[in-house]
Amino acid sequence: MFPCLKDNYGFLLHDPDTGETATIDTPDAAQILAEAEAKGWTISQVWNTHWHPDHAGGNAEIVQKTGAQVYGPQEVDRLGAAPDRVLCEGDTVKLGSVTAHVQETPGHTLGHIVYHLPDDHIAFVGDTLFALGCGRLFEGTPDQMWTSLSKLRALPDDTTVYCAHEYSEANAKFALSVDGGNRDLIAYADDITAKRSRGEPTVPTTIRLEKRANPFLRADDPKLQAFVGHPGETVATFAEVRERKNNF
Ligand code: ZN
Ligand code: FE
Repeated sequence: MFPCLKDNYGFLLHDPDTGETATIDTPDAAQILAEAEAKGWTISQVWNTHWHPDHAGGNAEIVQKTGAQVYGPQEVDRLGAAPDRVLCEGDTVKLGSVTAHVQETPGHTLGHIVYHLPDDHIAFVGDTLFALGCGRLFEGTPDQMWTSLSKLRALPDDTTVYCAHEYSEANAKFALSVDGGNRDLIAYADDITAKRSRGEPTVPTTIRLEKRANPFLRADDPKLQAFVGHPGETVATFAEVRERKNNF
């Protein structure tokens, strides 16, 4: 994992058994190629989460330089080239001996997918889930995004979650504004402040932490529902929290 562009993260996944390497999204082709080269790895696969240019914008250059196969949702063709293999819910992707399961998580974009590696206890979640946050609803509805986040919430607690942006400090400030009595959130927010003051990344996070502290995964919590004025209404609470974050 390495920082890319202004606040993106780049991720390389390497299978030591076969020597294969995948890049999860392509925020910055030159930097991703340099990171791979520094490790002595050659990128053989691109795994896209969604079509946005800070996620798929480097596809063409990486393919041109490495001949990598591109896997991703159909929507990636909006940037000019369809993936070599279009992925849907339930599909499996293999990188040597590493296996990823594909889940569709519409909301941020309609085609957004995430990669869950059950054997490795890892998920690459793109712009669906962030530490104490979630992606903006550019294309989907609150209902769709809540369903998508609920799927991620159902992953095992010990899943390490690689989100694609460093937004945690701003997310923590917002989260405290709607769920300030949550002790897990207060402790987590303190930890984020400390890490950022040392210049350290706050990614990855875990499903366990996010379940306890991330207000976007807690729209069915009666206290949060009451606080934002929608008692008993989960999707309305999620929509309200998302709307407040947009205006925070
Ligand atoms: Zn995006
Ligand atoms: Fe993004």
